[in-house]
Amino acid sequence: MSVLALQRRLTALGFDPGGIDGAIGPNTLAAINEALDRIPGAPVWKVDLPPAGVVPLDWMPWAVMTRIIFHWTAGQHKASAGDRKHYHILVEGDGKLIRGIPSIDLNDAPVKPGYAAHTLNANGDAIGTSMCGMAGAQESPFKAGPAPMTEEQWNRLVSVHVALCRRYTINVSRKTLLSHAEVQETLGIKQRGKWDVAVLPFDRSVKGARAIGDRMRAEVAARL
Ligand SMILES: [Zn+2]
Repeated sequence: MSVLALQRRLTALGFDPGGIDGAIGPNTLAAINEALDRIPGAPVWKVDLPPAGVVPLDWMPWAVMTRIIFHWTAGQHKASAGDRKHYHILVEGDGKLIRGIPSIDLNDAPVKPGYAAHTLNANGDAIGTSMCGMAGAQESPFKAGPAPMTEEQWNRLVSVHVALCRRYTINVSRKTLLSHAEVQETLGIKQRGKWDVAVLPFDRSVKGARAIGDRMRAEVAARL
């Protein structure tokens, strides 16, 4: 279905895609999600060209998800098969989106076989996103390694989180949108101490996991 046809269909069904212009913006996405939510068992409409920055709708199957935990892979800028096992959505170094192997609905609690094991004892109802990179990075003294997280990648992750928050009706807060590095302190769920999203190599003025999480939350909330 073309984007124009989809927008006409949504309008005919009484939803407001914010005009019929052939482009998927926030209003069209919201109308699609509203339609999907109001029609139980509705097929997920497929459009011809998902625009850059928006998560394809079939990557976001219906499920009750209450939280997003974001990570870095500690691997290369390209997603490996191993990386794709652990997360639902990955962002490569150049900002390209890669779908993980587990579908989001497998993490709808109780988790189903093949779910994404992204965060120790906190995978139920939680979506795992990840930025590909930070292989060989060192915390102290800081060394970014050969695949430092990029600003383009961070910005694309913000867009992914905006789409996920809309689709799953997740309100942004410290407990609902957080990095893996914040989980132990914020949720009180002990982790294995793996170093994860505690530095932004492209902006070293933001220091520590909490400040980085706050920056993500502010950027996402501003676009909801
Ligand atoms: Zn992690």
